[in-house]
Amino acid sequence: MTANSQWNGQFSCFDLVAKTSDCSPTVLHIGELAIGDGSFVVMAGPCAVESEWQILQTAEAVAAAGARVLRGGAYKPRSSPYSFQGLGLEGLKLLSKARQQTGLAIITEVMSEEDVGLIAEYADIMQVGTRSMENYSLLEALGRCGRPVLLKRGMTARLDELLRSAQVIAANGNPDIILCERGIRTFETATRNTLDIAAVPVLKTVSRLPVIVDPSHAAGVRSLVPVLARAAAVVGADGVLVEVHPAPEKAMSDGVQSLSFDEFGAMMRDLRRYVSIPLAAEDFAHQLFVPGGVH
Ligand code: PEP
Ligand code: MN
Repeated sequence: MTANSQWNGQFSCFDLVAKTSDCSPTVLHIGELAIGDGSFVVMAGPCAVESEWQILQTAEAVAAAGARVLRGGAYKPRSSPYSFQGLGLEGLKLLSKARQQTGLAIITEVMSEEDVGLIAEYADIMQVGTRSMENYSLLEALGRCGRPVLLKRGMTARLDELLRSAQVIAANGNPDIILCERGIRTFETATRNTLDIAAVPVLKTVSRLPVIVDPSHAAGVRSLVPVLARAAAVVGADGVLVEVHPAPEKAMSDGVQSLSFDEFGAMMRDLRRYVSIPLAAEDFAHQLFVPGGVH
Protein backbone atom coordinates (compact mmCIF):
# COMPACT_ATOMS: atom_id res chain seq x y z
CA MET A 1 0.00 0.00 0.00
CA THR A 2 1.90 3.01 -1.24
CA ALA A 3 1.40 5.78 -3.76
CA ASN A 4 5.04 6.04 -4.76
CA SER A 5 7.09 2.85 -5.03
CA GLN A 6 10.23 4.82 -4.14
CA TRP A 7 8.76 5.46 -0.71
CA ASN A 8 9.03 1.78 0.18
CA GLY A 9 11.34 1.39 3.11
CA GLN A 10 11.10 5.07 4.03
CA PHE A 11 8.01 4.71 6.14
CA SER A 12 10.03 4.81 9.36
CA CYS A 13 10.52 8.54 8.66
CA PHE A 14 6.80 9.08 9.05
CA ASP A 15 5.55 5.85 10.58
CA LEU A 16 3.68 7.67 13.36
CA VAL A 17 1.40 9.31 10.77
CA ALA A 18 1.37 6.54 8.16
CA LYS A 19 -1.70 4.44 7.43
CA THR A 20 -1.13 0.87 8.49
CA SER A 21 -3.39 -2.14 8.68
CA ASP A 22 -3.47 -1.96 12.48
CA CYS A 23 -4.35 1.73 12.86
CA SER A 24 -7.60 3.39 11.91
CA PRO A 25 -7.74 6.84 10.31
CA THR A 26 -7.46 9.70 12.82
CA VAL A 27 -10.70 11.46 13.73
CA LEU A 28 -10.20 14.70 15.63
CA HIS A 29 -12.86 15.92 18.04
CA ILE A 30 -13.24 19.56 18.89
CA GLY A 31 -16.35 19.93 21.03
CA GLU A 32 -19.15 18.54 18.88
CA LEU A 33 -17.12 18.84 15.70
CA ALA A 34 -15.40 15.81 14.18
CA ILE A 35 -12.72 16.14 11.50
CA GLY A 36 -11.74 13.07 9.48
CA ASP A 37 -14.93 11.05 10.14
CA GLY A 38 -16.06 11.20 6.50
CA SER A 39 -17.93 14.50 6.90
CA PHE A 40 -16.82 17.63 5.03
CA VAL A 41 -15.67 20.47 7.30
CA VAL A 42 -15.58 24.04 6.07
CA MET A 43 -13.19 26.47 7.78
CA ALA A 44 -13.73 30.05 6.66
CA GLY A 45 -12.90 33.62 7.56
CA PRO A 46 -10.61 36.50 6.74
CA CYS A 47 -6.92 36.20 6.04
CA ALA A 48 -6.31 38.47 9.04
CA VAL A 49 -8.41 39.64 11.97
CA GLU A 50 -8.72 43.39 11.35
CA SER A 51 -11.44 44.68 13.68
CA GLU A 52 -14.23 43.52 15.98
CA TRP A 53 -16.88 44.42 13.41
CA GLN A 54 -15.05 42.57 10.62
CA ILE A 55 -14.52 39.29 12.51
CA LEU A 56 -17.95 39.15 14.19
CA GLN A 57 -19.78 39.90 10.92
CA THR A 58 -17.76 37.24 9.14
CA ALA A 59 -18.27 34.68 11.89
CA GLU A 60 -22.06 35.16 11.78
CA ALA A 61 -22.14 34.95 7.98
CA VAL A 62 -19.98 31.85 7.57
CA ALA A 63 -21.72 30.04 10.45
CA ALA A 64 -25.11 30.73 8.88
CA ALA A 65 -23.86 29.25 5.60
CA GLY A 66 -22.62 26.05 7.30
CA ALA A 67 -18.96 26.63 8.21
CA ARG A 68 -17.91 24.97 11.46
CA VAL A 69 -14.53 26.64 12.00
CA LEU A 70 -13.62 30.33 11.88
CA ARG A 71 -10.21 31.21 10.47
CA GLY A 72 -8.40 34.51 11.00
CA GLY A 73 -4.74 35.40 11.43
CA ALA A 74 -3.72 37.39 14.49
CA TYR A 75 -0.01 36.87 13.81
CA LYS A 76 0.64 37.20 10.07
CA PRO A 77 3.65 36.04 8.04
CA ARG A 78 3.91 38.79 5.41
CA SER A 79 6.15 39.04 2.38
CA SER A 80 7.03 42.64 3.30
CA PRO A 81 8.00 43.90 6.78
CA TYR A 82 5.98 47.05 5.98
CA SER A 83 2.65 45.21 5.43
CA PHE A 84 0.01 44.76 8.15
CA GLN A 85 1.43 42.22 10.62
CA GLY A 86 -1.80 41.35 12.45
CA LEU A 87 -3.43 42.49 15.70
CA GLY A 88 -1.60 39.95 17.89
CA LEU A 89 -3.20 39.33 21.29
CA GLU A 90 -6.07 41.73 20.51
CA GLY A 91 -6.86 39.57 17.46
CA LEU A 92 -6.90 36.41 19.60
CA LYS A 93 -9.39 38.05 21.99
CA LEU A 94 -11.65 39.01 19.09
CA LEU A 95 -11.56 35.43 17.78
CA SER A 96 -12.55 34.21 21.21
CA LYS A 97 -15.50 36.61 21.26
CA ALA A 98 -16.57 35.35 17.82
CA ARG A 99 -16.47 31.76 19.12
CA GLN A 100 -18.66 32.75 22.06
CA GLN A 101 -21.21 34.39 19.79
CA THR A 102 -21.41 31.72 17.11
CA GLY A 103 -20.18 28.40 18.52
CA LEU A 104 -17.59 28.16 15.73
CA ALA A 105 -14.25 26.59 16.57
CA ILE A 106 -11.23 28.84 16.00
CA ILE A 107 -8.17 28.23 13.81
CA THR A 108 -5.35 30.76 13.79
CA GLU A 109 -1.71 30.72 12.73
CA VAL A 110 1.22 30.33 15.08
CA MET A 111 4.52 31.54 13.63
CA SER A 112 6.87 31.25 16.52
CA GLU A 113 7.70 28.77 19.23
CA GLU A 114 7.40 31.55 21.85
CA ASP A 115 3.75 32.21 20.93
CA VAL A 116 2.59 28.58 21.21
CA GLY A 117 1.44 28.77 24.84
CA LEU A 118 -0.50 32.00 24.39
CA ILE A 119 -2.18 30.99 21.13
CA ALA A 120 -3.11 27.58 22.56
CA GLU A 121 -5.12 29.42 25.23
CA TYR A 122 -7.34 30.96 22.53
CA ALA A 123 -7.30 28.64 19.51
CA ASP A 124 -9.02 25.30 18.98
CA ILE A 125 -6.69 24.46 16.08
CA MET A 126 -3.13 25.74 15.68
CA GLN A 127 -2.29 26.59 12.05
CA VAL A 128 1.27 26.15 10.78
CA GLY A 129 1.80 28.25 7.67
CA THR A 130 3.57 27.18 4.51
CA ARG A 131 6.66 29.20 5.49
CA SER A 132 6.91 27.36 8.81
CA MET A 133 6.55 23.74 7.72
CA GLU A 134 10.23 23.16 8.34
CA ASN A 135 10.51 25.19 11.55
CA TYR A 136 11.35 22.19 13.70
CA SER A 137 11.53 24.00 17.03
CA LEU A 138 7.99 25.30 16.36
CA LEU A 139 6.82 21.80 15.37
CA GLU A 140 8.37 20.33 18.52
CA ALA A 141 6.62 22.91 20.70
CA LEU A 142 3.33 22.11 18.92
CA GLY A 143 3.87 18.48 19.80
CA ARG A 144 3.45 19.50 23.42
CA CYS A 145 0.71 22.14 23.05
CA GLY A 146 -2.36 20.01 23.73
CA ARG A 147 -4.28 21.30 20.70
CA PRO A 148 -4.84 19.87 17.21
CA VAL A 149 -2.46 21.25 14.58
CA LEU A 150 -3.25 22.05 10.94
CA LEU A 151 0.05 21.67 9.10
CA LYS A 152 0.27 23.41 5.74
CA ARG A 153 2.50 22.00 3.05
CA GLY A 154 5.60 24.09 2.45
CA MET A 155 5.33 25.81 -0.91
CA THR A 156 8.37 23.93 -2.18
CA ALA A 157 7.94 20.77 -0.11
CA ARG A 158 7.35 17.25 -1.37
CA LEU A 159 4.64 15.17 0.25
CA ASP A 160 7.13 12.94 2.05
CA GLU A 161 8.65 16.11 3.54
CA LEU A 162 5.20 17.24 4.69
CA LEU A 163 4.71 13.84 6.34
CA ARG A 164 8.11 14.07 8.02
CA SER A 165 7.12 17.42 9.53
CA ALA A 166 3.88 15.82 10.73
CA GLN A 167 6.00 13.07 12.26
CA VAL A 168 7.96 15.68 14.26
CA ILE A 169 4.71 16.90 15.85
CA ALA A 170 3.52 13.34 16.50
CA ALA A 171 6.90 12.23 17.88
CA ASN A 172 6.69 15.07 20.40
CA GLY A 173 3.42 13.78 21.77
CA ASN A 174 0.63 15.18 19.59
CA PRO A 175 -1.18 12.74 17.27
CA ASP A 176 -3.93 15.27 16.37
CA ILE A 177 -2.67 16.63 13.07
CA ILE A 178 -4.53 17.79 9.95
CA LEU A 179 -2.58 18.01 6.68
CA CYS A 180 -3.29 20.94 4.37
CA GLU A 181 -2.57 21.22 0.63
CA ARG A 182 -2.45 24.94 -0.25
CA GLY A 183 -0.71 24.93 -3.60
CA ILE A 184 2.96 24.69 -4.45
CA ARG A 185 5.37 26.88 -6.37
CA THR A 186 5.88 25.70 -9.94
CA PHE A 187 6.84 27.34 -13.24
CA GLU A 188 3.16 28.23 -13.75
CA THR A 189 2.28 31.85 -13.01
CA ALA A 190 -1.39 31.92 -14.08
CA THR A 191 -2.33 31.02 -10.52
CA ARG A 192 -0.64 32.21 -7.33
CA ASN A 193 0.35 28.61 -6.56
CA THR A 194 -0.34 25.33 -8.34
CA LEU A 195 -2.97 23.32 -6.49
CA ASP A 196 -1.62 19.78 -6.34
CA ILE A 197 -4.99 18.07 -6.28
CA ALA A 198 -3.37 14.62 -6.48
CA ALA A 199 -1.84 15.35 -3.08
CA VAL A 200 -5.25 14.61 -1.53
CA PRO A 201 -5.64 10.98 -2.65
CA VAL A 202 -1.92 10.36 -2.18
CA LEU A 203 -1.99 11.62 1.41
CA LYS A 204 -5.26 9.79 2.11
CA THR A 205 -3.62 6.60 0.82
CA VAL A 206 -0.38 6.73 2.76
CA SER A 207 -1.38 8.63 5.89
CA ARG A 208 -3.90 8.19 8.70
CA LEU A 209 -4.41 11.96 8.99
CA PRO A 210 -7.33 14.10 7.73
CA VAL A 211 -6.53 16.23 4.66
CA ILE A 212 -7.86 19.75 4.09
CA VAL A 213 -7.46 21.87 0.94
CA ASP A 214 -6.92 25.64 0.97
CA PRO A 215 -8.14 26.76 -2.46
CA SER A 216 -7.68 30.47 -1.63
CA HIS A 217 -3.88 30.54 -1.40
CA ALA A 218 -3.65 28.12 -4.33
CA ALA A 219 -5.84 30.22 -6.62
CA GLY A 220 -4.78 33.72 -5.65
CA VAL A 221 -7.98 35.04 -7.25
CA ARG A 222 -11.50 34.64 -5.88
CA SER A 223 -13.07 33.51 -9.17
CA LEU A 224 -11.16 30.20 -9.02
CA VAL A 225 -11.79 29.44 -5.35
CA PRO A 226 -15.24 27.74 -5.63
CA VAL A 227 -14.23 25.39 -8.44
CA LEU A 228 -11.03 24.37 -6.64
CA ALA A 229 -13.06 23.78 -3.47
CA ARG A 230 -15.37 21.58 -5.53
CA ALA A 231 -12.37 19.65 -6.83
CA ALA A 232 -11.23 19.14 -3.23
CA ALA A 233 -14.66 17.79 -2.25
CA VAL A 234 -14.85 15.43 -5.22
CA VAL A 235 -11.33 14.05 -4.76
CA GLY A 236 -11.98 13.07 -1.14
CA ALA A 237 -10.67 15.90 1.04
CA ASP A 238 -11.98 16.12 4.60
CA GLY A 239 -12.74 19.81 4.16
CA VAL A 240 -11.56 23.19 2.94
CA LEU A 241 -10.00 26.31 4.45
CA VAL A 242 -11.31 29.38 2.63
CA GLU A 243 -10.76 33.14 2.92
CA VAL A 244 -13.94 35.22 3.30
CA HIS A 245 -14.21 38.96 4.02
CA PRO A 246 -17.17 41.36 4.45
CA ALA A 247 -15.59 43.76 1.92
CA PRO A 248 -12.84 41.89 0.05
CA GLU A 249 -11.77 44.98 -1.91
CA LYS A 250 -10.94 46.70 1.40
CA ALA A 251 -9.17 43.75 3.06
CA MET A 252 -5.77 44.47 4.62
CA SER A 253 -4.40 41.20 3.23
CA ASP A 254 -5.33 38.71 0.51
CA GLY A 255 -8.48 40.60 -0.55
CA VAL A 256 -8.08 39.55 -4.18
CA GLN A 257 -8.53 35.89 -3.26
CA SER A 258 -11.18 36.43 -0.54
CA LEU A 259 -14.83 35.61 -1.18
CA SER A 260 -17.66 37.99 -0.28
CA PHE A 261 -20.46 36.58 1.91
CA ASP A 262 -22.68 36.08 -1.15
CA GLU A 263 -19.91 34.28 -3.04
CA PHE A 264 -19.25 32.08 -0.01
CA GLY A 265 -22.96 31.23 0.22
CA ALA A 266 -23.01 30.26 -3.45
CA MET A 267 -19.89 28.10 -2.99
CA MET A 268 -21.53 26.29 -0.08
CA ARG A 269 -24.67 25.62 -2.11
CA ASP A 270 -22.52 24.19 -4.90
CA LEU A 271 -20.50 22.00 -2.48
CA ARG A 272 -23.72 20.52 -1.07
CA ARG A 273 -24.28 18.86 -4.44
CA TYR A 274 -21.17 16.74 -3.82
CA VAL A 275 -20.77 16.38 -0.05
CA SER A 276 -23.04 16.66 2.92
CA ILE A 277 -22.55 19.84 4.97
CA PRO A 278 -24.94 20.25 7.89
CA LEU A 279 -26.48 23.65 8.52
CA ALA A 280 -24.31 24.47 11.53
CA ALA A 281 -26.08 27.70 12.41
CA GLU A 282 -29.35 25.82 12.89
CA ASP A 283 -27.66 23.12 14.96
CA PHE A 284 -26.17 25.80 17.17
CA ALA A 285 -29.46 27.67 17.60
CA HIS A 286 -30.98 24.32 18.57
CA GLN A 287 -28.24 23.60 21.12
CA LEU A 288 -28.84 26.93 22.85
CA PHE A 289 -32.16 25.52 24.08
CA VAL A 290 -30.74 22.16 25.17
CA PRO A 291 -29.81 22.05 28.88
CA GLY A 292 -26.11 21.35 29.02
CA GLY A 293 -25.68 22.48 25.40
CA VAL A 294 -23.34 25.19 24.20
CA HIS A 295 -23.33 28.21 26.53
C1 PEP B 1 -2.98 32.14 5.49
O1 PEP B 1 -3.64 31.11 5.71
O2 PEP B 1 -3.46 33.30 5.53
C2 PEP B 1 -1.56 31.98 5.07
C3 PEP B 1 -0.64 32.90 5.30
O3 PEP B 1 -1.39 30.83 4.39
P1 PEP B 1 -0.06 30.15 3.79
O4 PEP B 1 0.79 29.86 4.97
O5 PEP B 1 -0.61 28.94 3.09
O6 PEP B 1 0.55 31.14 2.83
MN1 MN C 1 -4.03 34.74 3.51
